[in-house]
Amino acid sequence: MTEQIGFIGLGIMGKPMAQHLLNAGYPLTVLDVVKSAQEQAVAAGAMAGTSPKSVAEQSDVVITMLPDSPDVEQVILGREGVIEGLRAGALVIDMSTVLPSTARKVAQAARDKGADALDAPVSGGQVGAVNATLTIMVGGAQTAFERAKPLFDKMGKNITLVGDAGAGQITKAANQIIVGVTIAAVSEALLLAAKAGVDPVKVREALMGGFASSRILELHGNRMIQRTFAPGFKIKLHRKDMNLVLNTARELGLSLPMSAQVAELMNGLIANDGAELDHSALVTMFEKLANFEIGATAK
Ligand code: NAD
Repeated sequence: MTEQIGFIGLGIMGKPMAQHLLNAGYPLTVLDVVKSAQEQAVAAGAMAGTSPKSVAEQSDVVITMLPDSPDVEQVILGREGVIEGLRAGALVIDMSTVLPSTARKVAQAARDKGADALDAPVSGGQVGAVNATLTIMVGGAQTAFERAKPLFDKMGKNITLVGDAGAGQITKAANQIIVGVTIAAVSEALLLAAKAGVDPVKVREALMGGFASSRILELHGNRMIQRTFAPGFKIKLHRKDMNLVLNTARELGLSLPMSAQVAELMNGLIANDGAELDHSALVTMFEKLANFEIGATAK
């Protein structure tokens, strides 16, 4: 039997993800506070929801793709929220990047209603969402994962059940540490090369063959040289994720000095009108400190 799906949050990521489910023939009820986003999905064949509670009442599986932890807590746990309308035996899948503690609260609330929950944040960006090639990192029970897997297969490629509730969000936090710290490392490396008068284009090419090669050197190194800072992944969302990392580290009594440095540099960029830029624009903070731009010597 085809499951009835609810999808809440039709932004940069949610819109193409919901579209893949529609294309695969799933009956979909959608909701977004931005009416135009909801109308586009309805025009594509979805039914319009009126509240998170009403979406849940009509759905076997409710998927959320919202900006931040307070949004997820409001939409799922708040008044007229998903939990109020959730049927026994239903499944809630939050695919937003939020606090692991939010994921555990959602899982507990779902259990209290005789339902299941998964945290399933993604990596791969807008391109991955559009091409259905997202990496999906999942926390929750094996049975719930197996039930969700056909849906995940329509949206992503590398899909892993990592552990219990919250484990997906912990994995995503680990991902964001590696990405953020590597952007900072690539920024410093290209800045050093450029200031020394060595062509950063050639430096990037040379390093791509060796141990320092990475997707970030490849893609974001190129963005830094070409000065293409249109998002992509907005710095304000990556700063939100670094705050999730640092809040979680604090709960664990863990010191993460590299993550803290990167978060501070992101704060600086946001204060310098960079909130909406791609996260590769972090390089401009290093350039301010150096009073020198990488592009100045790129040949
Ligand atoms: P977005 O801001 O484009 O989309 C969020 C959508 O949620 C918007 O359409 C907004 O109107 C809607 N929304 C907000 N509050 C709502 C509410 N109360 N009820 C209904 N709808 C509501 O964000 P995005 O880029 O799609 O990101 C969504 C999540 O995915 C975030 O947690 C982000 O960190 C994560 N993520 C984003 C990317 C990326 O490249 N953009 C990559 C990986 C993960």
